[in-house]
Amino acid sequence: MAKALEYNATLAERIDLTDALTIFRIKPDQDPVRPWFVPGQYCVIGANNAEKPELGSVRRSMSIASAPEDEGPIEFYIRWVAKPESENPLTHLLWKIKAGDRLYMRPVAAGVFTVKDTIGLDDPRLRVMVAAGTGSAPFLSMLRSEIRKNPNVDLSKWVLLHGASYPDDLGYRDELAQMVERNKLKYWGTVSRPKEAPHWKGDTGRVESFFDGGRLDDLEKRCGLGGGDFNPKNVVIYICGLTGTITGTITPLFDRGFVPDFKRIREALGVPADIKDSVFYEQYDTEPVINVKDPAVVEPLKARMQAGLAKLS
Ligand SMILES: Cc1cc2nc3c(=O)[nH]c(=O)nc-3n(C[C@H](O)[C@H](O)[C@H](O)COP(=O)(O)OP(=O)(O)OC[C@H]3O[C@@H](n4cnc5c(N)ncnc54)[C@H](O)[C@@H]3O)c2cc1C
Repeated sequence: MAKALEYNATLAERIDLTDALTIFRIKPDQDPVRPWFVPGQYCVIGANNAEKPELGSVRRSMSIASAPEDEGPIEFYIRWVAKPESENPLTHLLWKIKAGDRLYMRPVAAGVFTVKDTIGLDDPRLRVMVAAGTGSAPFLSMLRSEIRKNPNVDLSKWVLLHGASYPDDLGYRDELAQMVERNKLKYWGTVSRPKEAPHWKGDTGRVESFFDGGRLDDLEKRCGLGGGDFNPKNVVIYICGLTGTITGTITPLFDRGFVPDFKRIREALGVPADIKDSVFYEQYDTEPVINVKDPAVVEPLKARMQAGLAKLS
């Protein structure tokens, strides 16, 4: 049992977008000296189980959705997990707390899922961000940070693809629509249960289906690229969410020569050491993205990766 956490933060505000999706704004007791994180990083929040003290405390990583330049509370975009794996799930404790309640937040940021730590700030390529559910949080931080630094910034090299079950689950749509309008962000939301949302006029299917066969040609056009140009010479991919989204996105991208930033996958697919990574991901669960130990899985993917790399050379 994890020992009790000493609370050091207050929930300043919670905005329930749906029953299972909430924006939490948390105010640490001691305001960290800003900027204390880089957009894309996460920190740890936690709580003690007051109703069942015998279960102790729980802490989980959460991507920071606010920009480092933002004053005031730190924002998180969190899903209530219906089928938790642990007996003391943090999201079930968080769903009971209200504004003014106390909790734990480690005011130290971690992670290298940042532009700075991946391609570098000056990389001119199109940045295609693929998010499922609350996986949009680190991308919000990145986009917001650009806007805080310059409200008129040109975001045309940023593309956000956001997938959810229903339109109401596509959090932050109004803010993102403003960025489309004012800053030329390219943003497309997609819903996987359109039959239950007859008024939805946007894209349908899971977010990874943007990369399936003919749909990738369509995405390429929407991004303003010529035929076949959706490749690592012009595009870098960021993915955030659960395994299914990551596997479903990187697999069709092997055909275009995109290389994941994951040593064991690179090695299994025979990627030469001098070829740079062009797909970066932040994974919210622990399932393997590709079972590199299973030749039946690896061999066909290796053939696709090699063919994709050959097309680029
Ligand atoms: C670097 C990092 C950043 C993260 N940032 C966020 C974030 O910004 N927002 C957020 O909601 N979660 C985020 N997570 C997931 C979070 O840390 C927890 O795993 C999640 O909240 C479940 O914790 P729990 O204690 O309630 O459930 P647990 O008992 O820990 O159950 C874990 C189960 O929850 C599932 N799960 C985890 N995350 C999600 C999710 N977002 N949607 C649906 N199912 C999920 C996993 O598949 C796993 O089966 C992040 C994880 C990591 C590693």
